[in-house]
Amino acid sequence: MSTIEQYDAVVLGSGESGKYIGWHLGAAGKRVAVIERKYVGGSCPNIACLPSKNVIHSAKVASYFRRSEEFGIVKGDWSVDMARVREHKREMVDGLLQTHLANFAKSKAEIVMGSGRFVGERTLEVALADGGKRVLQGGMIFLNTGTRERIDAIPGLTEAAPLTHVEALELDRVPKHLLILGGGYIGLEFAQALRRFGSRVTVVERNERLVHREDPDVSEALEQLCKDEGIDVVTGVQVTRVEGKSGDHVRLDTSGSNGAGITLEGTDLLVATGRTPNTENIELDLAGVATTERGYIQVNERLETTAPGVWALGDCAGSPHFTHIAFDDFRVVRENLAGRHRVTTGRQVPFCLFTDPEVARVGLSESEAKQQGIAYRLAKIPMMGVLRSRTLSETRGFLKALVSAEDDRILGFTGFGVGAGEIMAPVQLAIKTGLPYTELRDLILTHPTLAEGLVSLFSTVPALRPSS
Ligand SMILES: Cc1cc2nc3c(=O)[nH]c(=O)nc-3n(C[C@H](O)[C@H](O)[C@H](O)COP(=O)(O)OP(=O)(O)OC[C@H]3O[C@@H](n4cnc5c(N)ncnc54)[C@H](O)[C@@H]3O)c2cc1C
Repeated sequence: MSTIEQYDAVVLGSGESGKYIGWHLGAAGKRVAVIERKYVGGSCPNIACLPSKNVIHSAKVASYFRRSEEFGIVKGDWSVDMARVREHKREMVDGLLQTHLANFAKSKAEIVMGSGRFVGERTLEVALADGGKRVLQGGMIFLNTGTRERIDAIPGLTEAAPLTHVEALELDRVPKHLLILGGGYIGLEFAQALRRFGSRVTVVERNERLVHREDPDVSEALEQLCKDEGIDVVTGVQVTRVEGKSGDHVRLDTSGSNGAGITLEGTDLLVATGRTPNTENIELDLAGVATTERGYIQVNERLETTAPGVWALGDCAGSPHFTHIAFDDFRVVRENLAGRHRVTTGRQVPFCLFTDPEVARVGLSESEAKQQGIAYRLAKIPMMGVLRSRTLSETRGFLKALVSAEDDRILGFTGFGVGAGEIMAPVQLAIKTGLPYTELRDLILTHPTLAEGLVSLFSTVPALRPSS
């Protein structure tokens, strides 16, 4: 066995939480190693959030070209060059990589390229990317191994070699007819982008509606968006069998909720049906780290695992699967290491779905309020009412907010419209600080901005019923 190298801290996975822990402890003078098998900086800058938004933006440019005459710009010849779309994305990813490497150098946290697994308590063996092995022992261990696309056990699915987001972001051609399994966040973002590049796209969703965890008006609006962009949506069907190979010809047999099934055919297949944690093959049991039934690392609200001195953060710890949450997991651990007390329970979990226009939500949805028996007052305005949207010719969608029926606290916000994610931020602050909605309603906001829509939105909150 190789000699055991001693570190103050060893981090497995350089994702959003792991890299910040590494940089933070490294800058504080600790001896830190961050083990990463492939993507320095994790999924977000390499294969997930940022490259997908980059490609989505190229698709937006294509949509502007398609609509150009509406804006008084006479169209010349134009076409989509997917190889260049990919190159543009790669340039951004490479720039981000350089920033990450510079942060490692500056903080003096060592990045160790290779695949890590436990060989004992707080001891990891790394199969180095360029050959050989190292064994690292840490006073503290931080696990940040993330998740990957789940490939369901459907006969023929693995054999069809479907695309996941990783390969879809590397396409240098426009698929002729892309079938997408999954009408959730990732599926819909790719559906719209690829459609805008010129693919025929069919989204296959097993639930009765798209983004089924959101309110029905959000699902309906997204379904209408798909329809208007020429994306076929099939809901309420289970894929029972896959035949063929993605990139050539694929056939899906399905069964519907009433038993009857349809057959769908396309040239390419993208799987976007859910995530699975990267927790197998790292011998967590040798380190005394327990997992949940679904394979996530078991943690308490301070992100401590069942093994003393071992923490888990981000997706692999079952935290809501967003980069900003993985970042907050880092802050929770950082605060606790400094002797303060911070927990994950009760924190805000805002999120966006980056279709165009986007969906943004924080706090309670109407469905959740109803399920939990929470009485609310509803304010809802069409995006048309936000005058900035008219100047942009982007009037699709709505803003809505739930305000308590007992006092003026804001309980939740959902936006489907241009800039919804940006409009959400001040509402989030109001929710967090317990500001009454009237403060947003009465704010002087610059005209014409999208955020100005908050004045209109909160002006429509029904008055409190006088208590009997
Ligand atoms: C297509 C797509 C788009 C998304 N868009 C958004 C978005 O717009 N906004 C948002 O907030 N979230 C988005 N997400 C979710 C977001 O990417 C994740 O929630 C986030 O990246 C999780 O970060 P993490 O730190 O937990 O793990 P990751 O960033 O996945 O990092 C884990 C790292 O561990 C490494 N690793 C794993 N096992 C080992 C091992 N044994 N040895 C060495 N290294 C290992 C992996 O290579 C990886 O680099 C998106 C996800 C996808 C797939």
